[in-house]
Amino acid sequence: MKNQLSPTTIKIGILGGGQLGKMLYQAASPWALDVHILDRSKTFPAARVCPSFHIGDFTDYDDVLTFGRQMDLITIEIESVNVEALLQLEREGVMVYPQPSILNIINDKGLQKTFYQDNHLPTAAFTLVKNQAEILDQITSGKIEFPFVQKSRKGGYDGRGVQVIHNEASLHKIMDVPSVIEERVSIEKEIGLILARNPSGEIKAYTPVEMVFDPEANLVDHLIAPAQISLDYSEELNRIGTRLAEEMDIVGLLAVEFFIDTKGEIFINEMAPRTHNSGHHTIEACPCSQFEQQFRAILDFPLGDTTQEKSYAAMINILGPESFTGPPSYPNLRNILSMKDVFPHIYGKSISKPNRKMGHITLIANDRPTLIQKINTIKSQFYIQPIHMFKNL
Ligand code: ADP
Repeated sequence: MKNQLSPTTIKIGILGGGQLGKMLYQAASPWALDVHILDRSKTFPAARVCPSFHIGDFTDYDDVLTFGRQMDLITIEIESVNVEALLQLEREGVMVYPQPSILNIINDKGLQKTFYQDNHLPTAAFTLVKNQAEILDQITSGKIEFPFVQKSRKGGYDGRGVQVIHNEASLHKIMDVPSVIEERVSIEKEIGLILARNPSGEIKAYTPVEMVFDPEANLVDHLIAPAQISLDYSEELNRIGTRLAEEMDIVGLLAVEFFIDTKGEIFINEMAPRTHNSGHHTIEACPCSQFEQQFRAILDFPLGDTTQEKSYAAMINILGPESFTGPPSYPNLRNILSMKDVFPHIYGKSISKPNRKMGHITLIANDRPTLIQKINTIKSQFYIQPIHMFKNL
C-alpha cells in the first residue's frame, strides 16, 4: 500500500542530525522529498538545513517509536539507534531501511565477525571473549598470542574501543569488556567500498577508495579516489562487497572497510549500513552522490550512476584541533576558495573539540601527483581557531 504513495508524499524519517543527516537532507532537496530528522538539539548540523527537525533521542525507545509512527519510511545516518523501537515500527507496518535485524548484527563487532566467518567472507582470524580475565587466561594458555588487536564488541567508533596489544608491557591497557580478539594484520592499504542495494535487488558500487589514517587520532585523515590498486583487486573487492550485501539482504547503503595486507591478501575489517566518511567525494566526483543513492535505494528507485567521472578526487577531514574546545572559526576559507576544484563543506557544529569532525574538503585533479600536492597545500593552509580570536583580528 505504502509503496503506491508518490515519492514526494512518502514521509521519510532519518534518525540522526549530524553531518551525514545534513548532507542527506541536501540530497533529498532537489526532489522535494518529505524528509524529517530526529536528533537531540537544533544546534546540530542537519537542523541548519532541515525545517522538519524533531527534537528527541534516537537511542530512546519512546522517542524513536513516537517519531517513527508519524513516518512511512525510516532510515538512519548513524547505526547506534534504538533497534527495539525500529523492530516494533516494522511490526506496525513502517518501512525501515536498513532493516533493524541488520543493525543488530552490525552494532556488535562479534556478530559482524561471526557473519563473515559463517558466510566464508575473508576476515582476520578472531576469537570472542567475555572480559579481561578471559583474555589473560587465554594468553597464559597460549590461545591468544602477541601482538593482537582488542575490539570492544559494542559502542566503539572512530578507533575508540580498538587497541593493539603488543606485548606483556601493554597488558594493563586491556579493556574489561566483551571483545573481539583479532590477529594483527600487517596492513599495506585500507580501502573503502560503498555499495547500494534496493528492494528489487539491484546493486551498484562506487570505485574503491584508499583511506589514509591519522595515526594519533586513529581517524581517516584523508582519502584518495580511486585507490591505487589493480583492476583485479578492484573487481575482487567489488565481488566480496556484493556478496556481503546479498547475504545480508540489506536495503540501503553498505560501506565496507577492507585491509589489503603486505602479502596482498584481502580482509574485511568492518561495515556500516549507511553513508560513510569514505564516500563524501562522491558529491563532486560522481554523477550520483552516496547521499542521493541512499534515497534511491530505500525508495526502490533505479540506482544512480556511480562512475567516478573526475580522474582523481581526494577528501580531507577537517578535525577540531587539540588546542581548544569552543566555538570555531575558519579564517582561511577565503584563501582556499581561490583554488580551482576545491570544495569545502563546513558542517556547522557549534563547538569544536579535539579531533571532532568539523567538516571536510573535497579536491579534484587530473592526475595523482597534482592531487597529492593539492592535499598538502590545503592541509598546510586550512585551520580552525577559536571564534573570539577571529573577532579580534
Ligand atoms: P572503528 O570501528 O572504531 O573504526 P576499526 O575496527 O575500523 O574501528 O579499527 C580502527 C583502526 O584500527 C583500523 O582502521 C586499523 O587501522 C586498525 N586495526 C583494526 N583492526 C586491525 C587489525 N586486525 N590489524 C591491524 N590493525 C587493525
